Amino acid sequence: MRVVSVEPIPLEHPLGSGRAFGGTRGVTDTRTATLVKVTADDGTVGWGEAFAPPRTVATLIEEFFADAVVGLDPWDAETLADAVYTGEIGGYHFGRQAFTQAALTGVEVALWDLRGKALGKPVRELLSGQSHDAVTPYASTMYITEWGQDPAEPMERAVEEGFTAAKIKIGRSVEDDVHRVRTAREILGDDARLMVDYNGNYTATDALESIRAIEEFDLTWIEEPVPPEDVDGYRRLRDAIDVPLAAGEAHHGRFEFTDLVRENVVDVVQPNLGRCGGFAEARYLARLATTNNVRIRPHVWNSAVGLAAAIQFAATVPSYPMRSDRSTRPILFEFDRSENPLRNELLAEPFDPTGGELSVPDAPGLGIEIDETAVERFRVD
Ligand SMILES: [Mg+2]
Repeated sequence: MRVVSVEPIPLEHPLGSGRAFGGTRGVTDTRTATLVKVTADDGTVGWGEAFAPPRTVATLIEEFFADAVVGLDPWDAETLADAVYTGEIGGYHFGRQAFTQAALTGVEVALWDLRGKALGKPVRELLSGQSHDAVTPYASTMYITEWGQDPAEPMERAVEEGFTAAKIKIGRSVEDDVHRVRTAREILGDDARLMVDYNGNYTATDALESIRAIEEFDLTWIEEPVPPEDVDGYRRLRDAIDVPLAAGEAHHGRFEFTDLVRENVVDVVQPNLGRCGGFAEARYLARLATTNNVRIRPHVWNSAVGLAAAIQFAATVPSYPMRSDRSTRPILFEFDRSENPLRNELLAEPFDPTGGELSVPDAPGLGIEIDETAVERFRVD
């Protein structure tokens, strides 16, 4: 099997006036995604997603990857990241950069999708002998909204939908943080897992004050309390508090993640399967993390394609150091509950995270069927 074409497809969905939302560092008024469609000489199609500004990363895929990937065997996915780091693809200076890593990821994941389809096996089986049939979805919700939404509303909806875990946005002020966390915990109940996400909006001093005020609410992890580049801030927090720290959605590639794990400042690393470098890089990161006794849980804020890739990866996350048959820790899986038709409408059969469990597809490759008429509806090139 050989690749005969690589096509980036930029997508957009404007949210409409007054409907912008996001985290404490800013809100977005448009949902976007960049799909990568890779076609093989026998007509098989593989899909990936590059998580980056759509027109920019689409151009990058055309400029750096299209010619380089045509003619490759899908098994070359194993070394595609190496080709990017060495400059064989894209030139020596740009391999480690965020947009190049996102472009690489979209193409690399599409090659794995082809590979799975050629073998008739889901990607999770190609990545790991040990894989889970289901993961535990957590509602990523309680966003900061332009329209001043009552934070209780989205959490009540998450509980009605059967979620047993949730992650909420905080980081505007200590008083607001306490209000939002208390609201979430009261609605979720004592048994549910609750995570908080600051999107790096505090200094270590501010974060410490906030965490001390909310730690009584039994938090499973605290995400990006300080900016990703503030390693000393993470270290200060880790020395001072007992709640696990998480980071990684703003990290790219094996070198940045290796630094993050080796600094020994976080308990959970969170690669995104739309920009971490691809499945082969993510599999390496899983080994790296567990070798250092750090957990790995993907960050997911993608369209249906990046979501499908993340589910395949999450299904292979090792339970080490616990025995796999005795692990009491669920594989928590981020499921965005905000408006995004690119998550729901691109698939013939959308994912259903309700009821507290998310099945991992068993069909070959990413295990999804793309509705190409829906893709065309959101296309912006
Ligand atoms: Mg986050």
